[in-house]
Amino acid sequence: MNYDYLIVGTGLFGSILAYELNRMGKKILVIDKRNHIGGNIFTEKIEGINVHKYGAHIFHTSNKEVWNYINQFAEFNNYINSPIAIYKDELYNLPFNMNTFSKLWEDVIYPKDAIKKIEEEKKEYYVENPKNLEEQAINLVGYTIYDKLIKGYTAKQWGKTCKDLPPFIIKRLPVRFTYNNNYFNDRYQGIPIGGYTKIIEKMLDGIEVRLNTDFFDNKDEYLNIAKKIIYTGPIDQFYDYKFGQLEYRTISFETEVLNVDNYQGNAVVNFTDYEVPYTRIIEHKHFEFNTTSDKTIISKEYSRLWKPGDEPYYPVNDEKNTNIFNKYKELSKQNPNIIFGGRLGQYCYFDMDDTVEEALKVLKELRD
Ligand code: FAD
Ligand code: UDP
Repeated sequence: MNYDYLIVGTGLFGSILAYELNRMGKKILVIDKRNHIGGNIFTEKIEGINVHKYGAHIFHTSNKEVWNYINQFAEFNNYINSPIAIYKDELYNLPFNMNTFSKLWEDVIYPKDAIKKIEEEKKEYYVENPKNLEEQAINLVGYTIYDKLIKGYTAKQWGKTCKDLPPFIIKRLPVRFTYNNNYFNDRYQGIPIGGYTKIIEKMLDGIEVRLNTDFFDNKDEYLNIAKKIIYTGPIDQFYDYKFGQLEYRTISFETEVLNVDNYQGNAVVNFTDYEVPYTRIIEHKHFEFNTTSDKTIISKEYSRLWKPGDEPYYPVNDEKNTNIFNKYKELSKQNPNIIFGGRLGQYCYFDMDDTVEEALKVLKELRD
């Protein structure tokens, strides 16, 4: 055994553990199959703009410990996510708030007007125990908002109609009767100045990292190279898909450099109409406030079902996949020296703050 720990994956989860275990004096090897560090939070500077190569990443949390932890590695700007939704030729603010309601209905100015409108719509369509996303969405915001801002976007995002999706997905979005376009309710929010990759560089500083190195190319060797393994890749692949393949959603990013200074005037624009094939357009420079580039970079996001060879992004946490995952999880208990962590290892939709929390939890267990 040459190392105390082999860490598979240089994403946020693996890098936090590498950093902390290194500080504890452990001998560590970190590998990643990609040609760069950072996993999905990787940002790359192009034309003076930090490009979020794997989709828009906005750090937001209500957990002070997590916020203080991540601020050790970067200073954050005061970016507040306020996406715009475009439906056909209509433009709305997100999340659903007084700005959205007053644009949708001319006679809505005060909160009581919006509440009345939505209540009227709810009365017509209300379902006691919503069993799917469509019923849940209509219960929350009424039919008009569902039809214009939720139905098409969600179907594109998940590749299923809202009738075939679980209700909880839509509960992530705030509904507010104030004129407040902040997409999140969290206490802390921002984008790291200089990009996310710098955070990971700091975490992995002084640690042996091998890129372009796939665990499965030499699985037998890697299983014996360290006393413990922290594995942040897909858990089903680790076990050779013996209980079946877990499903994911993936995204294709179509990124272009444009010879204009400002393309859409906002970092995130959602296209909620089903006919537009992409879900959203990200304009990366608007995540920062100090870019002087006279060009801009945009990424169109196309969401689709994952197939082997694609990057697995979103776990599909429905009943079928949860049952399969539980079998892998049970099996993993047989070898406590292999720790499965992160979005893919735990097959769970973790935002970055959840990922930090989970990594610190595992660290605590390793320390005890
Ligand atoms: P990953 O970043 O996936 O890292 C896993 C690493 O393991 C990868 O580098 C991979 O190459 C490597 N790996 C896998 N298999 C192998 C193998 N066989 N051999 C070697 N290496 C391997 N969170 C937010 O808080 N805010 C947001 O706005 C936000 N937006 C998101 C948008 C998108 C499109 C996606 C997909 C996620 C978003 N997230 C967001 C979530 C965030 O990306 C995750 O919380 C975080 O990146 C998870 O880190 P991780 O280390 O678990 O996984
Ligand atoms: N959603 C929607 N319209 C929008 C934005 C989001 O209907 O304009 C729905 C969609 O179902 C999505 C869910 O709300 O999956 C959660 O949105 P969020 O932005 O949190 O999704 P993420 O991209 O982070 O998964």
